[in-house]
Amino acid sequence: MTFSLTVHATAGAARAGVFVTPHGPVSTPAFMAVGTLATVKALDPLDLEAMGAQMILANAYHLHLRPGDEVVRELGGLHQFMGWNGPILTDSGGFQVFSLEGLRTVTEDGVEFRSHIDGSRRHFTPESVIRIERNLGADVIMQFDHVVPGQSEEGVAREAMERSVRWAGRCLEEFERLNGQGLGSRVSGLGSSRPETRDPRPVQVLFPIVQGGIHASLRMQSVRALVDMHDWAGYGVGGLSVGEAKADMYGMLDVVDAALPADRPRYLMGVGFPEDLVEGVRRGVDLFDCVAPTRMGRNGTAFTDEGRINIKRADFRTDPRPIMEGCGCSACRRFSRGYVRHLFVSDEILGLRLLSLHNVHFLVSLMRDARAALAAGTFDAWSLDWLARHHSKPEAQAR
Ligand SMILES: [Zn+2]
Repeated sequence: MTFSLTVHATAGAARAGVFVTPHGPVSTPAFMAVGTLATVKALDPLDLEAMGAQMILANAYHLHLRPGDEVVRELGGLHQFMGWNGPILTDSGGFQVFSLEGLRTVTEDGVEFRSHIDGSRRHFTPESVIRIERNLGADVIMQFDHVVPGQSEEGVAREAMERSVRWAGRCLEEFERLNGQGLGSRVSGLGSSRPETRDPRPVQVLFPIVQGGIHASLRMQSVRALVDMHDWAGYGVGGLSVGEAKADMYGMLDVVDAALPADRPRYLMGVGFPEDLVEGVRRGVDLFDCVAPTRMGRNGTAFTDEGRINIKRADFRTDPRPIMEGCGCSACRRFSRGYVRHLFVSDEILGLRLLSLHNVHFLVSLMRDARAALAAGTFDAWSLDWLARHHSKPEAQAR
């Protein structure tokens, strides 16, 4: 099987395993750094490799608008385009399109919206999004889904969940139709004279997305409908960490963990604060992604074992310690808080880079530690201890 998950160790609902993809194995649980525009902001793929990042994310909506998915295909697909030969996952853009409040019209067919770049009118359907993700060529591609705010009442959440299930079926049909096409059957959009056979069909797998807001019965119905529809290679869990209470998110994870097939990876979409990763692993999640580490890094916030710190704080001016003591990232191995603070205060580009690097490294390492604890049979104690330490000083130093 080109894509498979082998679970090696468990502790309650938590599990450690290996998710095999055509571009290499991913040891799970794992954090995937987000490269929305085919770049993990401020980081070179070599940085990601060096820190042990295994799989990264890109976004179909953004890359369709710019530079265009056909441009990416023409340049050899995402792996070649961005110089990352490891596994890649593309999100469909459902979250982005549904975030364009006031700029969109939703029908059963799809979503009409205006580009956030130039205001041009666009139309996404489940089928067109699959064609975009096909052109991009990531290993794992996500269905186009209907995303609603986290606090949505049951009627709204039900409608979006049921539509997402129907759209999963349409995505699957289009995906299988494209898979059935022979090599070289694609039409080049750019008038290239190069032979099309140089660009073989990407080997991809499609994940559906479990929706249902914060309503347990809807989450259950979503899982059942998707499991009945097809033997999927993995599942996304969407619509969480979008404004609902943490307890509600964790409750939904318990519900879907019990219902999803145990031998398929579960990807909790858009969730990436350190404590959410540990809580998610405890509830059976295998894959995570979030823009938080790079976005917060660019704003001067660093994750540490004791909560977040703002590197611009005045008392760091002469602090010789690294961003986080004991951190093995290439920023902490070489530079002091005083220096990184100086870079931020002076608007030097290296500052953004160093904190982005540290924060992504922090989450990649956190999942490495979780895997090690699972393998050693100490995960329960390790995770409870980690959560107790992390929660005891939440952002205490951030003010
Ligand atoms: Zn560091």
